[in-house]
Amino acid sequence: MSSKEALSLMELHAHLNGSVSFSTIEKLVARKPHLNIEHGMTAIRSGQRRTLDECFQVFKVIHQLVDTEEDILMVAKDVIREFAADGVKYLELRSTPRKEKTTGMTKRRYVETVIEAIRQCKNEGVDIEVRFLVAVDRRNGAEVAMETVKLAEDFMLSTGGLVVGLDLSGDPTVGHGRDFLPALQKAKNCGLKLSLHLSEVPSQADESELLLNIPPDRIGHGTFLHPEVGGSQSLVDKVRKHNTPLELCLTSNVKGQTVSSYSQHHFLYWYQMGHPSVICTDDKGVFCTDLSQEYQLAASTFNLSQEDMWTLSHKAIDCTFAPDLQQQLHQKWLELQPTLF
Ligand code: 5GP
Repeated sequence: MSSKEALSLMELHAHLNGSVSFSTIEKLVARKPHLNIEHGMTAIRSGQRRTLDECFQVFKVIHQLVDTEEDILMVAKDVIREFAADGVKYLELRSTPRKEKTTGMTKRRYVETVIEAIRQCKNEGVDIEVRFLVAVDRRNGAEVAMETVKLAEDFMLSTGGLVVGLDLSGDPTVGHGRDFLPALQKAKNCGLKLSLHLSEVPSQADESELLLNIPPDRIGHGTFLHPEVGGSQSLVDKVRKHNTPLELCLTSNVKGQTVSSYSQHHFLYWYQMGHPSVICTDDKGVFCTDLSQEYQLAASTFNLSQEDMWTLSHKAIDCTFAPDLQQQLHQKWLELQPTLF
């Protein structure tokens, strides 16, 4: 495809440390040879499958490699440049602030460093707008979640709108969403947008019922919301009532085995209903993919035309957490519309 024909893309669900590419992992490994980490430990290659639990072990390995401000800066800049090279014009990156005793990195410096990476890419002329969501890892409990909301609020106010929201993620089998309600409500009240991983595994229907009442501004995965897979019509109705967009990550769900095959992916259920559905990568490094590949997979699996794909990426603009950029992005989409249709 020529650049005129290539799709312009919107990435709304990308975890920073899950997005680290092979070449960046090589640079990190060279910095820390004593860890004896090989690429096979940080990525799930084509044809491979892992349980969700095994996927979460992979993140722990990557976290060992990314434990200084210098690492965070390099990783975030590389990830931003790679998304831009793939045709992504707007990226919402999310990450869990981490404190590392051994290197002296604090959670505040962690977020500041990601913001610095976003600013440096902008100054270097990388053709992409980037916003940041501060992530709450559910494994760390309610108290840490509340502290994280405070941190996110501080940065939302001090960065002139680069921090736009809060993400709830981490191992879905740990803890219950009710514990996070006060923190999520506080985040919403102070103006942070909420993207919540919901119904990623079958046992989360009660939790989703509760969290959908907030309501969130977007849903990550939502794999088991609909009745055909053990969810319920009531859950679907709540999502429909608020028109809450879904962030859908095909390869992540297939490789993580929460979805049995591409053709069984719940993308089709929501897409056929005309519900706002945004194709995303989740963890492009861990799952060895990129966003244009995810669009191609959706197109070949569900028989989408080039125009359908363009419309999908165009509609994602209305689902961003940066309303100030939407008009500019719509304009860009019209200018960059491929000549194929
Ligand atoms: P980080 O927050 O360190 O930048 O990115 C990795 C973290 O994102 C993981 O430790 C995990 O908390 C979260 N994460 C990445 N992918 C997924 C996913 O598919 N589901 C859930 N629930 N959390 C994820």
